[in-house]
Amino acid sequence: MAMPFLSRRPTVPAKDGASWPHVIILGGGFAGAHAVTALRDARVRVTLIDRNVYKTFQPLLYQVATAGLNPGDVTMFLRGLSLKVPNMRYRQGEIEGVDPERKVVRMDEGQKGIQELSYDYLIVANGATTTYFGTPGAEEHAMPMYTRSQALAIRDRIFSELERSSREQLHSHDRLNVCIVGGGPTGVEIAGALADFRMQELDILYPEMDPGTLQVTVLQRGGELIKEFSPKHREYAAAELEERGVTLCLGRGVKEVGYDHVILDDDSVLESDITIWAAGVAIPEKVSRWGFPQDRRGRLSVDEYLQVKGFPGVYAAGDVAGQDEPLPQLAQPAIQTGQAAAQAIAAEVAGTPRKPFKYTDLGTMATIGRHAAIAQIPGIGGLEGSIGWAAWLGVHITKMMGHRNQRAVAMNLISLYGGTRATHQPNPVVGEVDSLRAARVFEEQAARRRFGKGAGAGDRSSVRAAARAEGAASVAEPTKD
Ligand SMILES: Cc1cc2nc3c(=O)[nH]c(=O)nc-3n(C[C@H](O)[C@H](O)[C@H](O)COP(=O)(O)OP(=O)(O)OC[C@H]3O[C@@H](n4cnc5c(N)ncnc54)[C@H](O)[C@@H]3O)c2cc1C
Repeated sequence: MAMPFLSRRPTVPAKDGASWPHVIILGGGFAGAHAVTALRDARVRVTLIDRNVYKTFQPLLYQVATAGLNPGDVTMFLRGLSLKVPNMRYRQGEIEGVDPERKVVRMDEGQKGIQELSYDYLIVANGATTTYFGTPGAEEHAMPMYTRSQALAIRDRIFSELERSSREQLHSHDRLNVCIVGGGPTGVEIAGALADFRMQELDILYPEMDPGTLQVTVLQRGGELIKEFSPKHREYAAAELEERGVTLCLGRGVKEVGYDHVILDDDSVLESDITIWAAGVAIPEKVSRWGFPQDRRGRLSVDEYLQVKGFPGVYAAGDVAGQDEPLPQLAQPAIQTGQAAAQAIAAEVAGTPRKPFKYTDLGTMATIGRHAAIAQIPGIGGLEGSIGWAAWLGVHITKMMGHRNQRAVAMNLISLYGGTRATHQPNPVVGEVDSLRAARVFEEQAARRRFGKGAGAGDRSSVRAAARAEGAASVAEPTKD
């Protein structure tokens, strides 16, 4: 006798499933993963393609970058979706192109080279990526934070530089300057987390170092932080950050990034040992070669059913999709459009009418640091301080896919933020901290440096050595995890 609580749905294709229409989903982020789950009861075969085997919960990447969470806490193995969606198959690959005429997707599968996969229906959900707006030096020297490996690179660089600076302290009073370019939610969150680290943990972990050695600056071209929020919340965020010792440099754009500095648009030069780029997102350049209509920001133009205009059977969801009135590039619009695109396909397959997509605004949140967050929730209003922070924590934990992720994040954040300064035990999540390499690169970059011991010194050979070290200097080796 089958015991319902022990049995699972049979995997598909079963005998009849093999002939079901094939839906390909490009990208397993918020939109793609939720499109998969929304197709669980449809009579379709689903193939999910992503270059990574995991889905990333980007809203908590800043915690990985600042050593509060393990990288695996914010990622979920995409193949795990098969538990609830047995009609899904995952394939790892780099999506190179789409040929809507022949209804095929081209993907790079490494050793096998470019493979073609045919579809009956397509959901394009491959998100957005970092843009440097053509700022000279930014790609080489600034550290973006869009992926898990980029967050790990930031974390490893911070701790390598801290170790290096702790030795420097014995000889000089050099500072470790972290400049964050961009005063949106990501910039604010990472600045707040670093400031909390300095207040709560730095003096215990690095007693040989003056806590003032670590300087955190937010550079924002516009005159205010987090423009997505109401003026009251913007002021609150700015005041909280300043109280935590973060320097706000507002109304100043960055026109160039160097190894240890940034040049602002008034030509002033700011010391920046680590420059974190949290300034902007754009649609991946290759999407523009797929032949689909795009709006002026490069997003794929979709109709009220999220179907790409003029391409029946092709849908777009998440950051890459542009409605006539575009939604913000955030998790909720991605989740809701992913689900809606899947439901539209399920309706087409079942021969029932599709429903036009309607967005439900569930609110916006950002955290500034320990017990300080802001939330704008329709029907509830604005929340700040500890209440806002509790709401932020609850929402972020419940919105994660995967029980392991939810529990791990809850436990790690409680251990990070729980208790008082007297009871808190600092124990950041560190990786391979290579401060010897950081010191070597620091020396090799002397000719290009504007600050610190030996800055600007060097003959032609040291300039050549600096050029060789350039790539290595910019991005720390990501930790293998
Ligand atoms: C640091 C950071 C913090 C954020 N914080 C918040 C927040 O607090 N609240 C909020 O609501 N939103 C936040 N966002 C925005 C939110 O994460 C995005 O809006 C959301 O991820 C968009 O979902 P998506 O499915 O469209 O794209 P993504 O989640 O980016 O997923 C795209 C997927 O496509 C894959 N992919 C892309 N190109 C290819 C290719 N060529 N081949 C194979 N695979 C490919 C990627 O690997 C990825 O898995 C944040 C974003 C970042 C970067």
